[in-house]
Amino acid sequence: MPLPIYSSAEQQHSRTDVILLSSMTGIWLLIMALGFLSCWFESRRLGRIQIPPSRLEQLNRVHPPEVFRRWVAGDQAKHGDVPPPSAEEQTCSICLDVIKAEDSIRALECRHIYHTECFDRWFRDFRDYCPLCHRAVMTEGASSSSA
Ligand SMILES: [Zn+2]
Ligand SMILES: [Zn+2]
Repeated sequence: MPLPIYSSAEQQHSRTDVILLSSMTGIWLLIMALGFLSCWFESRRLGRIQIPPSRLEQLNRVHPPEVFRRWVAGDQAKHGDVPPPSAEEQTCSICLDVIKAEDSIRALECRHIYHTECFDRWFRDFRDYCPLCHRAVMTEGASSSSA
């Protein structure tokens, strides 16, 4: 004996509702997960560096970021024609990439230079010394504000 048409239609209707609702929820969860993942990848791609503000401020005061091209000009003016300590000067020893003229760099007291981003990542992990010569980043003379 076939089921009454009305009841069957009702059942069909409510089942469609359930399927629709659950698939909507599934889609929402998927969108949220994708959003979260893309945020995560984006922040990794940008290499967002989080240094405690006071620490970053101190670093910026002692070794402010500079454009490589400008630093070279300033360094030559300061040291005359004395060449930088080594050819590594042209390469960032953290990422081993060549430093281009327009790159933002941090130059340390020892005249070792690094990409600002690379050095900040290094410095963020509480490594307060030059990756190449292990000289302290915050030299006493440079960090005192009274000078
Ligand atoms: Zn680098
Ligand atoms: Zn150094």
